[in-house]
Amino acid sequence: MAMRSKLVAGNWKMHGGMVQNRALLTAILDGTRDLGSAGVAICVPYPYLQQAQTVLQASSVSWGAQNVSQHDKGAYTGEVSASMLMDFNCRYVIVGHSERRALYGEDDYTVALKFQAAHATGLTPILCVGETLDQREAGITEQVVAEQLDAVSELVGIDSLVESVLAYEPVWAIGTGKTATPDQAQEVHSFIRGRIAARSPEVAANVKILYGGSVKASNAAELFAMPDIDGGLVGGASLIVDEFLAICHAAK
Ligand code: PEP
Repeated sequence: MAMRSKLVAGNWKMHGGMVQNRALLTAILDGTRDLGSAGVAICVPYPYLQQAQTVLQASSVSWGAQNVSQHDKGAYTGEVSASMLMDFNCRYVIVGHSERRALYGEDDYTVALKFQAAHATGLTPILCVGETLDQREAGITEQVVAEQLDAVSELVGIDSLVESVLAYEPVWAIGTGKTATPDQAQEVHSFIRGRIAARSPEVAANVKILYGGSVKASNAAELFAMPDIDGGLVGGASLIVDEFLAICHAAK
């Protein structure tokens, strides 16, 4: 039986500023000293990576970015490569967040290329998958999630998944205050783990699958208690110290 430790990852999205970040990062540092095996990570906007590194470097809290280029270097104005993220000692990078897929046209193959670039450079990708409300209502949740997952395992190989973190984020639950019920989330987490197990039982047993979508202090514990939910990817609530710390402690 695999022993998967829990992880709570904050996604600040495009929020923050030098002054408020310092207060938030310091409070997270101070409030997460007694979490045992549970891990905490914060994914910040690129300009604040150095600040996150400075505040968090001697702690058990990890940091990372929210996106990465699929390219190594070159004429890609405005893009940031995986090796640049490594220069700031990032551990994690989110790839395929639904906002990137919906607003910036990232398709499954592009997301897989980003995963590949991150993984090859030594970052741990946090790969987001999830269906829209229309897709759920059309009964194609599993098909959508399978395609998003398979794009990565076909390009990078099933074994790469164990060096990543997966995040199931139903699009209809992100930033809407509408959380999937623990059973609804568990059903998809179990589907994802089962699909991986068909190719590699070992990878399936060891890969962390986070839930994301309006995770808050009031619902974190019941979500994290489900057998295939290994923690959370937290947007809005990661900006509120007390909420975020309570979520971290729910993962203990
Ligand atoms: C997210 O940004 O990944 C997310 C889950 O956002 P929220 O927690 O605000 O729904």
